[in-house]
Amino acid sequence: MTTELTTPNRRRRAGAIAAAAALAVALPLSAGTPALADPNFPSPEGNTNIASIATYADLIAELDRIERTSRFGVEVTTLAEVGTEVATSEQGRDLYVATVGEGPEAVWLQGRIHGNEPYGTESLLAVLKELGTNGSPDWELLRETYTFHVIPMYNPDGSELNIRHTVLQDGSEQRIDLNRDWGEGKFVAAESEAFYEYWTMVDPAFAVDIHHQGLKTEYGTGDDVTLSLGISLAPGGPTLPGIEGGAYDVLTRQMHVHVYDELAKYGNINMDRYQVGGSLEIDIKGGVVSAMMLGFDYKGLNPEGHSNPAIFFETSGNTSDGSLGQKARGKSIRQNVLALQELLLGMATGEVQQEDPARWEEIPHAPVTGYQTDTGVIPIP
Ligand SMILES: [Zn+2]
Repeated sequence: MTTELTTPNRRRRAGAIAAAAALAVALPLSAGTPALADPNFPSPEGNTNIASIATYADLIAELDRIERTSRFGVEVTTLAEVGTEVATSEQGRDLYVATVGEGPEAVWLQGRIHGNEPYGTESLLAVLKELGTNGSPDWELLRETYTFHVIPMYNPDGSELNIRHTVLQDGSEQRIDLNRDWGEGKFVAAESEAFYEYWTMVDPAFAVDIHHQGLKTEYGTGDDVTLSLGISLAPGGPTLPGIEGGAYDVLTRQMHVHVYDELAKYGNINMDRYQVGGSLEIDIKGGVVSAMMLGFDYKGLNPEGHSNPAIFFETSGNTSDGSLGQKARGKSIRQNVLALQELLLGMATGEVQQEDPARWEEIPHAPVTGYQTDTGVIPIP
């Protein structure tokens, strides 16, 4: 059940959000945006042109611009300035975080942990810009309720190389998937330990991670999926119900039910549940947003055992499989911005917490046959 605000309020809110999303896709890139070649989403021809994708230099320039022009106190910092023990990427790049808001609870928003999944960066820059400049009551509410910690490019090395991983600089050239690198006794890559320490300083109330997947069609209908809604420890699966008395098992599903309902109103967004191998739920503990829910202590940095619920979004199309057409850029950014805005507002107003978590079952998905874990597949009998 959605707890409806008054109808006029809802209408006003939707209008304001749509306007913000339209602005968001106009975000300038220093490289310039080539003419749109293919109206389809995503381009099945695979004419990926990465010239339209934000580089690390673009990130720094845009963060600087947002900080200088914001009305509501956006602060851009690096982990070196924050003072984490490990503070740069494997290749020595600064790791950037922007904060905005004065609310008592922290919210962690990260994108592009996989370097070849570009639009998390631009989506988060767009949301950051709104948080920093938009004076409407919705955005006021968000700034009063939360302090946002925005990490638009978690993996700058992989982003510059246009690959999923970061590359170890210890002579091994080993490629590390940063989204499998959090866990007890882990942190192979510098980025992981740096952001983990920052996370223990922030102690967020919840987190969202933005990804891309390959082309996908909806189970049963065959329609193109534009956005998959993911929880990296499967609801009702082997792990999540045992955390915090099952609270995250409930809240993560409520978060996605809310996004699913709200985004259905905008059009041109077709959602389903994120699954792998056709019919498997993921239950991967080494993922960053999984590890946040598990709340482990490393080097005594999290002695209180802080943990937080977390979800992720997967836009269809990435640069490596050639499935990211030009037209997809605007649509991908728009749907991520809308999803984030609706989720954040829903959390701040309490609408999310009123949703029926059982409706997670209503979001399109293949019948579940098992769980993909870090070490293999657990079939469901
Ligand atoms: Zn990813």
